[in-house]
Amino acid sequence: MAQVLDGKAHADRMLAEVQSRVAGRPDPARRPPCLAVVLVGEDPASQVYVRGKVKACALTGIRSLEHRPAATVAQEELEALILRLNDDPEVDGILVQLPLPAHLDAKRALHLVSPAKDVDGFHPMNQGLLLEGLPGLRPCTPSACMRMLAHHGAALKGMHAVVLGRSEIVGKPMALMLLEQHATVTIAHSRTRDLPGLCRQADLLVAAVGRPGMVEGSWIQPGAIVVDVGINRVTDLELGRRIFAADPGKLATLEAKGAVLCGDVRFAEAMAVAGAVTPVPGGVGPLTIAGLMINTLQAWEAAATGR
Ligand code: NAP
Repeated sequence: MAQVLDGKAHADRMLAEVQSRVAGRPDPARRPPCLAVVLVGEDPASQVYVRGKVKACALTGIRSLEHRPAATVAQEELEALILRLNDDPEVDGILVQLPLPAHLDAKRALHLVSPAKDVDGFHPMNQGLLLEGLPGLRPCTPSACMRMLAHHGAALKGMHAVVLGRSEIVGKPMALMLLEQHATVTIAHSRTRDLPGLCRQADLLVAAVGRPGMVEGSWIQPGAIVVDVGINRVTDLELGRRIFAADPGKLATLEAKGAVLCGDVRFAEAMAVAGAVTPVPGGVGPLTIAGLMINTLQAWEAAATGR
């Protein structure tokens, strides 16, 4: 049986580190860090994510400010809000919760966030710094995964890492961070041929696709480390019967509640083959929020030193 990589426990350690650095700041008279969250509209999943982020702020001593423009907000209004937050000396980090309603240009809005306050690490300046291997604000999900892998003692140097997915938020930055740690990295996507065969070559498999249970146990090299970034809500019983064939617990939840959360990897099948696996939920999700707190702390500390 593989080891379960407990993302929640690791996230708790990261939150405790942030809390202690905020509470023990060298200048106690200095205000604590402040994160401004912009949530456009009433998307239920986004509301849940924002609640989690605000709760983590409260736990760590970070002040949070919520801005909730209506779903009908005009692009110009959203941009004006971002510019105001950029200029506000009381704000260290700005997070624009995605996805934005379809009439808004998300990229244009995100590119307006000041790179110094870009705690999601999505600004081209921060993405460029990552490409160059220089310090900057890095996307929360992959950077928190890297912290967890380091804590786990994963010997990344020389490993073959296969990253499934090439998004700017997860796949690409994850691949760059693994490369920085001297892994040999293959990035796979929807046009990649023979995914199962490629995945079987991976010492480390990172799945960030958004397809429930796509990665079967037979795709995994015995002893590999599997990081499952996907978060999928399954409601289709037919699909559930197929992907949870080895996971009676998940299937029972789906049958009882009509929905269940799962990753891109068939967890029970992976547990029988891999060396270590992150669960969903309780794996990468909590790590991402903890990564956001670390980035907010980093932006606040950088503001104090004028860097
Ligand atoms: P995304 O922007 O939709 O990207 C998905 C990637 O998967 C794309 O590169 C796509 O390839 C690839 N893909 C899609 N279908 C595929 C297939 N059949 N075979 C191989 N590759 C395929 O998604 P994302 O934002 O990176 O998120 C991925 C997943 O992670 C989602 O489930 C999301 O909810 C989850 N997520 C979780 C966290 C967390 O905190 N745990 C954070 C962020 C995201 P193409 O480029 O060729 O289209």
